[in-house]
Amino acid sequence: MSRIWYKVTLTPESPVAVLRSRASAQFVKTQDYLPGSTVRGAFAEIFINKRGTDDPDFRSIFVEEKIFFGDFLPRFPNQLTNLIPLTARACKRFGLKGHPKSHTDLLLNHMLNAFDEENKKCPECGEPIDRVSGYFIGDGKDGEIAYLSLDRQLRMHVGISRKTGTAYPGLLFSYEMLTEGKVASGRETLPLQFVGYLSALEEDANELFEGLWKVIPPQREHLSVGKACTRGLGELRIETIEKKEPVEISFEERWEAFNRAAYEWNGSQEKCYFSITFTSHLALKDELGRPVLGNIRPYHFSLPETVELCAAFLNPEVVSGWNAAQGLPKPDTHALGRGSVLGFSAPKSLEAEIQTRLQTLETEGIGERRAEGFGRFVVCHPIHIPKQKEKN
Ligand SMILES: [Zn+2]
Repeated sequence: MSRIWYKVTLTPESPVAVLRSRASAQFVKTQDYLPGSTVRGAFAEIFINKRGTDDPDFRSIFVEEKIFFGDFLPRFPNQLTNLIPLTARACKRFGLKGHPKSHTDLLLNHMLNAFDEENKKCPECGEPIDRVSGYFIGDGKDGEIAYLSLDRQLRMHVGISRKTGTAYPGLLFSYEMLTEGKVASGRETLPLQFVGYLSALEEDANELFEGLWKVIPPQREHLSVGKACTRGLGELRIETIEKKEPVEISFEERWEAFNRAAYEWNGSQEKCYFSITFTSHLALKDELGRPVLGNIRPYHFSLPETVELCAAFLNPEVVSGWNAAQGLPKPDTHALGRGSVLGFSAPKSLEAEIQTRLQTLETEGIGERRAEGFGRFVVCHPIHIPKQKEKN
């Protein structure tokens, strides 16, 4: 079954703060993206205010979860953004922002036991390399990789006493927020945008999206997300909507390039190689209902038994959330964090079977909470292919 995808661009009209944890701490950091669940909640809230929860469109979109809302990543206008995977390394001292040439990806190294890059030094300053996180500008396929750097601000507040209506002694709290204008590579100021994908199964996509845009007309309606909506934070305008698939490079092209790189790194010609890179959290449960975290295996993707897991970069996380309709916190979900990467090898004879299986999963996603953007991955992401090797 195929899906219809809509690429949605949101422009913030105020700073945005989507808290990383429940607001029980004195200093709370913001997420640097809008989780699918947050955007979905904002859409649902408008729907509830205008039509109520008994509306048939509301029921099919939000209760039956027929539209999937993906995570919305930050970006500058007309540029692609990619989440930096757990396999990426860069200069320990100056980072990817200061020394972009120090970027290296360890996936093929680990898959093919060629550890020569493990002790690599930054070519610009000679310092060791270390883990990096955040976002790349571009898809890592052509040209140099640039680091997306977001502007953050801290907002301080004093607690107000309910009795007197004045400042409450000893009660000071603060939260971090993303500002709407940003500075790219220290030169120009560019507006921040968030881009994400909404999707539905082909057979009912037209009807569902018609219903959605009728209630929430783009460019006229505002979404409110995250912390302190009532104090003017987190106001977003729906800038554009286009019918577009999330991964622009075809599956075959990505698979081809990945295997070519693996053979250049002395991979066996009798095998095929592939990777799975999670672009959102994965909430997968085993048959006993326990979360699948570090014990993830090829059979969780229904892959044949002869498929071998040869590299795993995993980051288990606890994800909290808020249910807008009920006004209650959602139960915590144990998930494999976005950016986790798996590397596999398999006998070449199984290549076609594996490709078919993964292509379906890549479209459908896997695990729970998929309507909120969980369980999305990219097979053979071009970000893992080393640039230097490509040129040789
Ligand atoms: Zn350096």
